[in-house]
Amino acid sequence: MRILVIEDEKKVASFIKKGLEEQSYVVETAFNGLDGERLALKNDYDAIILDVLLPKQDGIATCQKIRMKQIDTPILMLTAMGETEDKVRGLDSGADDYLTKPFHFEELLARVRALLRRKSQDKSAVLQAGELVLDPVTRKVERDGRQIRLTSREFALLEYFLRNKGQILSRANLAQHVWNVSFDMDSNVIDVYVKLLRQKIDKGFDTPLIRTMVGAGYVLSDEDSDD
Ligand code: CA
Repeated sequence: MRILVIEDEKKVASFIKKGLEEQSYVVETAFNGLDGERLALKNDYDAIILDVLLPKQDGIATCQKIRMKQIDTPILMLTAMGETEDKVRGLDSGADDYLTKPFHFEELLARVRALLRRKSQDKSAVLQAGELVLDPVTRKVERDGRQIRLTSREFALLEYFLRNKGQILSRANLAQHVWNVSFDMDSNVIDVYVKLLRQKIDKGFDTPLIRTMVGAGYVLSDEDSDD
């Protein structure tokens, strides 16, 4: 999952980035409202964390401009303590939720997970495909009650597949959301990782969850296919 953090306090931005990266998210940062807006319009993010007080263009105006371009990426706004007006204006400008500074990182994480659920329209806390279950909180993966150990990148890849169940995902799409943007598109790293993931989640089971769509990419689906 790819997240944009728009926050001018570099310490806070790097604290959030580091924490989210430890959870296998791909994170990009912008240090002012205009740069943030530009990135939000240019790239496809799964969630945006947006500070209210920003140089060049504040968080409220940035949020409004992103929404005016019909971009419906979930936005979590960071507001100053006690500024009720900021919260109201933030939500009115199109943010989905807000978090008051200072915050505990665990709370930020829980809110990000809630926003990602909202986006995938899947309200349950765990992600599921057939008998495969991924818990984003405990980071445990099981299929048919059997625990599966994944590396951090394999976990990120599986989470992204599950949040986009049934959709064909191109290599470019996977590169953007699971790896960072500087990823070399000519490399076969994605194919290698998908293969590793399949060995762990599909090997030994009757129904493969991940399938190759020739010329298009990959799809994870728990619906029976004819091939
Ligand atoms: Ca700020």
